[in-house]
Amino acid sequence: MQNRHANSHSSPDLPRFASAQPPSVMSSFNCIGCGYNFTGLTIGGICPECGRPIEESIAALRRQETCGAATASMVLGIVSLTACALCGPVALVYYYKARKQLATGHYSRGSHGMAKAGLIMGIISTAITGVMGGLFLVGGL
Ligand SMILES: [Zn+2]
Repeated sequence: MQNRHANSHSSPDLPRFASAQPPSVMSSFNCIGCGYNFTGLTIGGICPECGRPIEESIAALRRQETCGAATASMVLGIVSLTACALCGPVALVYYYKARKQLATGHYSRGSHGMAKAGLIMGIISTAITGVMGGLFLVGGL
């Protein structure tokens, strides 16, 4: 099983913005109010159909984004319980990374659930590793 890392998350459905001023919507994305297609419009403007700020639709899109660190935390948590216990502490590291990112409020609810799952599985596998390691040491004495 391949681990997915935090920087590998991509959101092909999010609009890409030109860096030149003024920024404009480069890919197809629609108004959250009326579904009007914003392609080619300037960011910071309002929807020509219903008058909602374009920023509002962008913010709504961002909130649906999956947090890469949260995904990594959950995947590492699963790996730590099924294949390699050493991934447990790494899952915890990714959980703390994810928690910081999730605090911005830009990510989907699913991301919060995945981060929590990574935390729980990471703690369990780390605890098991600790107990096993402790027994090993005691047994070895
Ligand atoms: Zn609209």
